[in-house]
Order: sequence, then structure tokens, then C-alpha cells
Amino acid sequence: MYDAIVVGARCAGSATALLLARQGHKVLLVDKATFPSDTISGHFIMHPGVVRLKKWGLLDRVFASGCPPITRFSSNLGDYTLSGQVPYDFDGLPYAVGPRRTVLDTILVEAAVEAGAELRQGFAVNDVLWEDDRAVGIRGRTQEGSPVTERAHIVIGADGKHSKIAQLVQAPTYREAPSLTCWYMSYWSEFPCEGLEINWRHHRISFTFPTNDGLVQNAVAWPHQEFHAFRSNIEQNYLNTLNMMPDIAERLPDARRESQFYAMADLPGFFRKPYGEGWALVGDAGHHKDPTPAYGISDAFCDAELLADALQKGFAGEQSFEDALSDYEQHRNTRAIPDYEETCQRASLEMWDTPDMLGLRSALRGNEEDTSRFCAVMARAIPRESFFAPENIQRIMRQANLIPDSV
Ligand SMILES: Cc1cc2nc3c(=O)[nH]c(=O)nc-3n(C[C@H](O)[C@H](O)[C@H](O)COP(=O)(O)OP(=O)(O)OC[C@H]3O[C@@H](n4cnc5c(N)ncnc54)[C@H](O)[C@@H]3O)c2cc1C
Repeated sequence: MYDAIVVGARCAGSATALLLARQGHKVLLVDKATFPSDTISGHFIMHPGVVRLKKWGLLDRVFASGCPPITRFSSNLGDYTLSGQVPYDFDGLPYAVGPRRTVLDTILVEAAVEAGAELRQGFAVNDVLWEDDRAVGIRGRTQEGSPVTERAHIVIGADGKHSKIAQLVQAPTYREAPSLTCWYMSYWSEFPCEGLEINWRHHRISFTFPTNDGLVQNAVAWPHQEFHAFRSNIEQNYLNTLNMMPDIAERLPDARRESQFYAMADLPGFFRKPYGEGWALVGDAGHHKDPTPAYGISDAFCDAELLADALQKGFAGEQSFEDALSDYEQHRNTRAIPDYEETCQRASLEMWDTPDMLGLRSALRGNEEDTSRFCAVMARAIPRESFFAPENIQRIMRQANLIPDSV
């Protein structure tokens, strides 16, 4: 009998297993994949995710893998390239990082095992065990095909957006949104790149950053309704999109594409009720959104921490599991709902060049300190509301002589 069985061993599952095991709980962590294992995903980790890697003692392992720290963020909306250093006054962590999932997920899995979690790889869960309407365990198959039953106080679905656990426990879904974008990604060598580079044009976006093995990920998104058009000539459409972005286009002739294309167009938005009798959901299994702002990994880490804290309160008898898990849902939603609404807007790939945004960017030209803070908003290192507060925007515009001092 385990305290917790965690189904899915990537960002959300391994992090949850790691934290629960460090609290002293008996944890079984299972995944149908075997690690190291890749998955179709961008992997740029924003500030909240980096903070958690550091807190859990894993950031040095990410850097030791050869993945460079990223300190510069730049964006170009067809106006000019606004580039800033992410400032140093946030938790002493002025960087982001973009490790390959083969690297990141393996670091997380190994850390969970070091913390005491029992890992079973190549293990596919196909059912939840019930007693008196309460989930009490799982049924699954080992890599060799043997059926296995295991029991636990709580079954945690960290098994991604199409979560089998969510389906089996019939977790209610809310705030649903259709897929808004489609993505094609590949890895490049001989492509000098020091930071995160985001380029927007009408209905087009590209996302570029350095990762392991001296490679750079170049990802391109189009609106979801154009997926079939993109698919009709993937290489040409991908290259044409990158060539629309002068900063990228100038480096392409000397660069070499080193990988296949990784594609993803199945990107529904939703929240699921993340708990019930004997079960909980974490990461994409509990809440999924378009990847345009690159929040998924950070959110999976944040939710893993919230869930582990809630369960600890339940196990310690400080709160009933029901109350602790209800708090978990509320805390998750307080953070995630505003981000989700903004993400749905941004992922329409239409809201990129509003007069307000272009005016602000023009005012930021040559203003290093505020550009840095603007980049910190993109990195989620400082809250949007504090940077975009009317008085702050007015101050920046005034400093750039774009509004009179009297306003
Ligand atoms: C195109 C694209 C680009 C993205 N770019 C970024 C980015 O730059 N930055 C960022 O932060 N996020 C990005 N994301 C989002 C990020 O990939 C996800 O939010 C993140 O992977 C969620 O982690 P997770 O652990 O919840 O789920 P997953 O990574 O989906 O892991 C789920 C695991 O559960 C296992 N599993 C599933 N079913 C079972 C079963 N029945 N039995 C056993 N195991 C099972 C799977 O094998 C898998 O290993 C991107 C996503 C996409 C699609």
C-alpha cells in the first residue's frame, strides 16, 4: 500500500513524486514511457519554473547538462528588435533555461527516485480501482505485459492533457477553449543565438532559443485553422515563416537543420476539477492551454508544489483532504485563470500589434532599465499588473517624451 501513486513521470508527475517522497511519503511513480524520453514540446522554462528547479536543488544539474542560462529576451513585432537583459533583482535568478525534454524529464525522474519514490517505467495504467466510490489504486500493465494492481491513499493523474486518470474518474471540465494554434519545431546547428527571440507578424509567430548540444530550437506557429495549409508543404511553410523575420532570416543561410519537424495542433484549452475522493490531477492533466506564452512547464512545477503541500496537510491531519484539495484548486485557479484568458487572446495570433503595445515599445527604445522590466514580465518574473499599471506606463511614455509632463 502506497501513500500516493503518481501516473505520469514528466514535469508534473516527477516533481509531485519528488516533493511527496521528500516529505517522507511512500510514493509509486509510473509512466508508460521509459527515460530518457522525448516528447513533442517546446521547453523554454520561464522564471517561476527556474525558481522551483533551483529550490529543489536541480538547476545546477540542468546547467551541468550543457544547457546554457538565458539572460536576454528579445521581441520584434515588425517594428524593431526590443532586446533586454532580464534584471538581477529577482531571487538572484536573472535567467531562464530551455533544456531538451530528454534531459529535463530524466533529471526530474532521477531526483524523484533519489528522494525515495519507487519508479516503474514502461508501465501503462488502464484502470482505477474503486471502493465505496473512492479511488483506492490502479490497474496497469508492465512493459512485459503482466497485469498489476497497486493500492494507495491517493491516485494522482499527471498523465498529460488526454489524461486517462481524468477520464476514469470523470473529472468535470470547465472554461474549455478550442485549439488556437498549430506548431512546427526543429533543431538547428550553426545558428548563433544567446537568448529567447520572439518574432510576431500577422497570424505568424516564431520562437527561438538555445538548448542542449549547441543546438537552437526554432519553433513556428500558425493559426489552428491553417493547419492543413501548413501541412501541405511543411518545410517550405516553416522556412517561409522564419524568412519573414529578418533577425532569423539573416542566420539561416549558414545554419543547418539537424532534426525532423515536430508538429502539434492538438492544443485544447480547459480546466478540470483537480480532485475528488481518493484522486487528484496535476499539470496538463488538470489544466491545459495553448503553448504560445511557454507557461506549461512552469505551471506544472507550481501545481506540483501546491498539490504536494495540500496532500501533506491532509496526511498530517492539519486539514481534511477535501479542504486541502479544495484550496489546491483555488490557488491553482487564482494563478492560472488570468494567464489562461490572456493566453487565449495571444494565441489568436491577432493581438500582437495594438497601438498601445506599439506605442509602449517605441517608448522603451533606448530605455534599458524599463526594457529589462518588460522582459521580466515576459519571463513571468514580475507581475504583469505592476508593469502595466497606468501610472508606470505613463511614466515610461513621459520619459520618452511621448506624452506631456502634465498628464
Ligand atoms: C508545441 C508545444 C510547445 C510547448 N512549448 C513549451 C515551452 O516552451 N515552455 C513550457 O513551459 N511549456 C511548453 N509546452 C507545454 C508543456 O509541454 C506541457 O505543459 C508539459 O509537458 C506538461 O507536463 P505534464 O507532466 O503535465 O504532462 P506530459 O509532459 O504530457 O507528461 C505526461 C506523462 O504521462 C504519461 N502517461 C500518459 N498516460 C499514461 C498512462 N495511462 N499510464 C502511464 N503513463 C501515462 C506519458 O507517457 C507522459 O510521460 C509546449 C507544448 C507544446 C505541445
